Amino acid sequence: MTDTVTETTEKKIGKKEYLKSWVPYSIKRYWAYGLFTLIALGMPWIKIGGNHLFLLSFDHKKFHLAGIAFDMQELLPLVFLLLMLFVGIFAMTAIGGRVWCGWACPQTIFRVVYRDLIETKLLHLRKRIKNKQQEPDMSKPANQVKKVIAILLWSLLAIIAAADFLWFFVPPEEFFQYIQYPADHSIMVGVLIGVALFLVADVVFIKENFCVYICPYSRVQSVLYDDDTIMAVYNPNRGGEIYQGEGNDRHKAYAKKKELLVDNPAAECVTCESCVTVCPTHIDIRKGLQLECINCLECIDACTVVMGSQGKPSLIEWNSEHEVLDGGHTSFKRPKVLAYLSVIAVIIVGLFIAGSTKEHMLLNINKSTRLYKIMEDKSVENIYTFLFQNTDNKKHQYYFEIEGLDGVTIVKPTKPFSISAGFKKKKVVILATDKVLVKNSKQDTPLPITIKAYAVDDPENIVVFRKSVFVYPRLDLVKK
Ligand code: SF4
Ligand code: SF4
Repeated sequence: MTDTVTETTEKKIGKKEYLKSWVPYSIKRYWAYGLFTLIALGMPWIKIGGNHLFLLSFDHKKFHLAGIAFDMQELLPLVFLLLMLFVGIFAMTAIGGRVWCGWACPQTIFRVVYRDLIETKLLHLRKRIKNKQQEPDMSKPANQVKKVIAILLWSLLAIIAAADFLWFFVPPEEFFQYIQYPADHSIMVGVLIGVALFLVADVVFIKENFCVYICPYSRVQSVLYDDDTIMAVYNPNRGGEIYQGEGNDRHKAYAKKKELLVDNPAAECVTCESCVTVCPTHIDIRKGLQLECINCLECIDACTVVMGSQGKPSLIEWNSEHEVLDGGHTSFKRPKVLAYLSVIAVIIVGLFIAGSTKEHMLLNINKSTRLYKIMEDKSVENIYTFLFQNTDNKKHQYYFEIEGLDGVTIVKPTKPFSISAGFKKKKVVILATDKVLVKNSKQDTPLPITIKAYAVDDPENIVVFRKSVFVYPRLDLVKK
């Protein structure tokens, strides 16, 4: 008995004491939003060695990653990046549920900016951030004017967001040049306007319905959850079962504290519904896990204020069902999580290898359909088409050598040639020999050769090796 009294006294340490060092999740989320916005706005401007941190330019058929420029024919790093994105989403969801939705998704950030900052704080169109269920009374002319101002303000931000999106495909330095001549760049301008219009329609009219009904991620995430996944969880052991029944038959049983106390005198939920009115997706987390929950944790903040005033912790926690409902310990070393993390580690290694083995020039070799040409002096020529491509960001002089077969010389081209940055050049190449390479009087012989092509001004770093063949005729055809 004495222990229970001491425990209760310790729990009821008073509102001021309890909430003194408390930092609401909403404040932490705003910091996260600021950080992600800075990254999204700043990243397209960052260049390393003349190349962007990330750029997928369809215009120049280039992909930049961490300052390395890849050609569209060398998209392996992009494949690795996409793989990492998918597996990363799986891992993140298995560990933290829809943590992306609540903390980093542009849709949620945009909704907070529009609904909470513009409509509520700036224009007072909505009464309180804490009540997201109550829509403004649009029959009032003053509210109609405020709504128009809110849409105009958001439209300006939507254009900036659309431009930022485009900068990952059209670098800012080109974007601001192109935008001065919209008629010449109608596709870019069309995409800019289209994305901005979508953002206005989505944020102003579709709202969180996008998260609930449209977003494909919300459809698949449920299969990735398990009992150790961290999410917003109401604790019915402390608060009491507000909903009765199972599955689709689950229905609300108590709307008032006194009704709840009749069945469960220890129930702590005061049925204030602060956690319900604050929820942007309009759900009641006391019903249990729901796919609509975007992990914004606003319900936890709301309940912390309510329960904190009684010196008690929130009835809703950011924790796993295993820990909150069953009293166990959340395990992060689950086979599923370890498997995802191992795959991500392999992909990262692959990404580094793909990045470090990047070739700064490309070379495709095609041999002509005529196998060889026997000249009057009985020397033998083989003809090829070499397609060189300069994938570096400056002009170079290129030439090549033959390796692996003595006696074969380059007849054409006779000297190095230049290719500007990002450009290709086709060259007809003639290789010849006046030596007897093979004494085979029954058939022609294909002899393997290696072409070592390089930039004359930087042969150490800009060099590629390609395999091909030199076809030598039957001996009787070349006998002098
Ligand atoms: S229940 Fe609602 S308020 Fe709570 S975390 Fe989920 S979406 Fe946010
Ligand atoms: S905010 Fe807390 S006390 Fe109020 S209804 Fe929700 S769970 Fe119960």
